[in-house]
Amino acid sequence: MEPTIVVHGGAWAVPDSLAEASVAGVKAAARDGFAILKIGGSALDAVELAERALEDDLAAFDAGCGAVLNTDGEVELDGKTLAAGAVSSVRNITHPVTLARAVMEKTDHIMLTDRGASQFAESIGITTVPTDALMTESERREWEHYKKYAPEPNPFCSVRGHDTVGAVALDHRGNLACVTSTGGIRNKMVGRVGDTSIIVSGGYDDDQSGAVSCTGHGESIMKVTLARLILFNMELGNRVCLARDAVDVSLAYMGERVQGGGGAIAIAPSGDWAARFTTQRMVWATAKGESLFYGLDPQDMFEEKLSK
Ligand code: ASP
Repeated sequence: MEPTIVVHGGAWAVPDSLAEASVAGVKAAARDGFAILKIGGSALDAVELAERALEDDLAAFDAGCGAVLNTDGEVELDGKTLAAGAVSSVRNITHPVTLARAVMEKTDHIMLTDRGASQFAESIGITTVPTDALMTESERREWEHYKKYAPEPNPFCSVRGHDTVGAVALDHRGNLACVTSTGGIRNKMVGRVGDTSIIVSGGYDDDQSGAVSCTGHGESIMKVTLARLILFNMELGNRVCLARDAVDVSLAYMGERVQGGGGAIAIAPSGDWAARFTTQRMVWATAKGESLFYGLDPQDMFEEKLSK
């Protein structure tokens, strides 16, 4: 198998002021994850490392530190990795993706939330931080500015910031993995859980049909179980269907049935990959062979040599 990793930094109307930092962030994360695959590492290790890099990126992404705030001005993070572990509504963990992996590997459960997730983190030595440590000054200012507004019903065509991060990878043994991590939607209700930590909605992987990570309007994504729908469409194509077609058909269905916008990255077991969206923009990067591909606007497909 030719190792491949695809990462995204969220589907929305990324403003020009964030474009450069977002592109740089996904390119760096794809390179980091690919370095693991190149030395024979697993798809799971690769997506976790890439995701941690995105969660650490304060300037560009809504995950980990720097996430958007809820109506009470707090951070509540959701994250997931397969097969299958998830956390939701965590307020004191810098890397929800690592905690989600621990849920998968060290418990008999699939999802832990809020207080239970923090207790578990502490019990296995994952460092917890004061909630304030996850808040950036710029998010606090945005929250002050927008707190008088309810979250938009489908905010994904606006420039109100929200940029979930995700990664999917195929390793040389043919194993697939996916991760997704988010702070959710600005001014969400306290306790709101979006699609990101919900297996089959915000992400799904199955070595036999593919790996997917989604972004966009969480309520719409959950209504159509977008990640599973994409894999279903890939399966319908008898695994010869292009990942790109499966993502496009599924996003179009979500638009028609529930008027939701979003995006997804996917890899088929063959290594065929896609990064597609129906929002104005979605930043993404793919590392495969000798090349790094990346884009932000709908028709973008830039390529540079990984050795650069
Ligand atoms: N899907 C995420 C949520 O609704 C947000 C995003 O993808 O930007 O929480």
